[in-house]
Amino acid sequence: MARHAPFHMTILAAVMMSCGNGSSTQTPKKVKIYSPATKQTTMMDKVIKSDEEWQRELSPEEYRIARKAGTERAFTGKYWDHHANGTYTCRCCGTELFDSKTKFESGSGWPSFYDVVANTNVTVHEDRSLGMLRYEVLCARCDAHLGHVFDDGPKPTGLRYCINSAAMGFTPKK
Ligand SMILES: [Zn+2]
Repeated sequence: MARHAPFHMTILAAVMMSCGNGSSTQTPKKVKIYSPATKQTTMMDKVIKSDEEWQRELSPEEYRIARKAGTERAFTGKYWDHHANGTYTCRCCGTELFDSKTKFESGSGWPSFYDVVANTNVTVHEDRSLGMLRYEVLCARCDAHLGHVFDDGPKPTGLRYCINSAAMGFTPKK
């Protein structure tokens, strides 16, 4: 399984990079975020809000998924069968996450992508819940829980970002 080596290297690098950020929420930090719209990487303040603030801004389902690491039921989200051209964004902070060009039919019932718009825009953490090792994908700017990344995706990356619709917004291409 030659595919595994690059996957683990990619994921390990992401995990190591994200370790530097820690989980501290005391001081607002800057993160590098890439915008496909402007093709620029900019240092931006992290978005840090209290649970109460997030609850005010999100629906109960969005809050449960994006802020409390929940999962929507398969085939129920608004984007698993969504085929418009555009960019999928973070529901919580608007960071651009996935281009519709990298979306594919995984059959899982969740929106699935084989790549992110930029590795800077997400962080990947080891997730050992449910008695297995998975890799959790979070928004780099606001730490929203997006979903998980697996190594059974299509070429060219071999990755499958399995993402909850409720954690995302969508900006159509003009
Ligand atoms: Zn975000």
